[in-house]
Amino acid sequence: SMEFADRVGRVEPSATLAISDLASKLEAEGKDVVDLSVGEPDFPTPETVIEAAKDAMDAGHTGYAPSNGVPALKDAIVEKLTADGIDCGPENLIVTPGAKQALYETVQSLIDDGDEVVLLDPAWVSYEAMVKLAGGSLNRVDLASHDFQLEPALDDLADAVSDDTELLVVNSPSNPTGAVYTDAALEGVRDLAVEHDITVISDEIYDEITFGVEQTSLASLDGMGDRTVTINGFSKAYSMTGWRLGYICAPEALISQAGKLHSHSVSSAVNFVQHAGIEALQNTDDEVEEMRAAFEERRDMLVDLLAEHDVDVAVPDGAFYMMLPVDDDDQAWAEAALEDAHVATVPGSAFGAPGYVRISYAASEERLREAVERLAENGYF
Ligand code: PLP
Repeated sequence: SMEFADRVGRVEPSATLAISDLASKLEAEGKDVVDLSVGEPDFPTPETVIEAAKDAMDAGHTGYAPSNGVPALKDAIVEKLTADGIDCGPENLIVTPGAKQALYETVQSLIDDGDEVVLLDPAWVSYEAMVKLAGGSLNRVDLASHDFQLEPALDDLADAVSDDTELLVVNSPSNPTGAVYTDAALEGVRDLAVEHDITVISDEIYDEITFGVEQTSLASLDGMGDRTVTINGFSKAYSMTGWRLGYICAPEALISQAGKLHSHSVSSAVNFVQHAGIEALQNTDDEVEEMRAAFEERRDMLVDLLAEHDVDVAVPDGAFYMMLPVDDDDQAWAEAALEDAHVATVPGSAFGAPGYVRISYAASEERLREAVERLAENGYF
């Protein structure tokens, strides 16, 4: 029989699987499930991006692309990052099939067995898995008791990090909380990173989706340019989840290491998808703003609706998620809410936040209303 490597034994399949399996089963039985468990925008990819992909295929961009990315796309990414205050050139980039691959290559390049990685909980599920796959050890700082904000938790972070800390992962706006960290919080991260010589991953994939606050790029802060790995992608801002396009922006030394993993595994991101990415970066301001505004309206509506049922939430300033406080046993709550009310949510435990469920408001206002009504009718609030 096959003998499997230790590394795959260290990780579990996605904890959301049980919920999505149950949701599919209910749907197959003809039940109308309101699915608030999904992490993708409910909008089509902007039409001109689709046209650009077709044009690129017609123009013959169907062969291998340069491993680290198509030069014209790299130039467009440099322009975006420069506007965000990041000092970056094409030599600082690897274009990847999705931000997930960008994160994977980064963690594999930085973390050896036993290296310490600090996560801010609740955290997106794949950070933990990636660290475990690399053999790293996890050290977690809990933001739940601070309304998911980092600034009031800086003392806890200072206690958690040391000269042994190799890597810290920051994700603002955050999945699953929607929190956008203040400049003071990011400056606090900078001070600790400099003091203890820590590399920081800044996952900025939700940077275009903020509501009345500004997202600051960590790498734009003094002292952070040479120790930050900025990760971004096209899935969320441009509703391009299935296209698989993202990137790493980092000091050249990391790019040359991660570039080896990249070239020996995926070779490159898809050639014509990269050409479409140029269109997304340069000519979709109106569509991006429409989606952003829709998320903001839904956030406002949800916060109001929940308040009517005396459910108090930490109001998210970005992304399209919010955390609902529920029973201690959030897994049981989520399973029961799905079975009785046919509303799918993700248990907070999956993100290191027991006592909460994550809801995604990448759903129409009508469906969001329906979900709240059903949960209320079935006694979940
Ligand atoms: N980072 C965060 C915080 C995410 O929520 C996601 C997607 O859910 C990703 C990275 C990966 O996005 P993709 O691989 O689609 O670019």
